[in-house]
Amino acid sequence: MNSPTLPTPSVSELAALDRSALHARLHQRVEAAWELAQAVYPGLPRPPAWLDLRGKCAGQAHFGRSGLRFNPVLLGENRLAFLVEVVPHEMAHWLVHHLEGGEAMRPHGREWQGVMRGLYGLEPRATHRFDTRTASPAPHRYACACRSHYFSKRRHRLAHAGKHYVCRQCRQRLVWCTG
Ligand SMILES: [Zn+2]
Ligand SMILES: [Zn+2]
Repeated sequence: MNSPTLPTPSVSELAALDRSALHARLHQRVEAAWELAQAVYPGLPRPPAWLDLRGKCAGQAHFGRSGLRFNPVLLGENRLAFLVEVVPHEMAHWLVHHLEGGEAMRPHGREWQGVMRGLYGLEPRATHRFDTRTASPAPHRYACACRSHYFSKRRHRLAHAGKHYVCRQCRQRLVWCTG
């Protein structure tokens, strides 16, 4: 069994936080997760974190903007899981991306799993505990306001190259969701 490297926050303490205290807590956690990673990979840049993700995506390592994005609504509803799981999950993407050849590595592949286990002491899961979606053979998850969409490698490449995909139901543009 793994045991988490970062301290596990208390549920009652988290429940008592108001919105701005909770957001500050998230930023602290990002900092702590980065410090752990940076101790092992000294060249790792410190990612800014934004709470501007909406819809069905919990977190996103955004390499175009060069930082980590989190979903404030899902954070409010899943405080413990966010701090324990989602933050290290995205930081592991951040780290792997900055490894030699990291851009070509599979999002939840061997290297990412190694970071989750070895650095954070967590069971590597592509999905979060609070997330009820079912696993899909298409490896790249995208999300809109209403649900997850799974893209094949080919479609993912097209989206990456700038092609826009819109959800038929909610009409929102689909964004790549790394966590
Ligand atoms: Zn939708
Ligand atoms: Zn992920």
